[in-house]
Amino acid sequence: MALRNLRYEGDEILRKKSREVPLVDDRIRMLMDDMVETMYEFDGVGLAAPQVGILKRVVVIDVEDGRVYKMANPKIITESGEQSAQEGCLSVPEKKGVVTRPMKVIVEYINENNEAEKLEAEGLLARAICHEIDHLNGVLFTDRVIDDITEE
Ligand code: ZN
Repeated sequence: MALRNLRYEGDEILRKKSREVPLVDDRIRMLMDDMVETMYEFDGVGLAAPQVGILKRVVVIDVEDGRVYKMANPKIITESGEQSAQEGCLSVPEKKGVVTRPMKVIVEYINENNEAEKLEAEGLLARAICHEIDHLNGVLFTDRVIDDITEE
């Protein structure tokens, strides 16, 4: 595994739409593993491939629920409820702000073994999934902040 360089707000790659992954092969698995290592290095709970300069629909998430999620082509198929809480982002390190997200989502994705999976998520995990999928569509949390953005 290797650390990847993070991209920061202002880098135009963060505003582009990522492409679907046709197959989770060794190259994608290596990308996922590198992303997990990079996420841990910077104390994040999630990371999307554009944040390391790769425009592929790949995200990794660890909200300390005992699992590390490695997802290709994640797609929310249903969402319900609402939660508002402060969010941050490894690509926007000096800012925080309150964002409203669904309380629960059901997401379909391809896992690291190239198998289709469906996951019911709520709370912080649902929030992280929505935040990371936003990255795949060129959206940053700062676009969705409902109160003032706090500069740290
Ligand atoms: Zn982010």
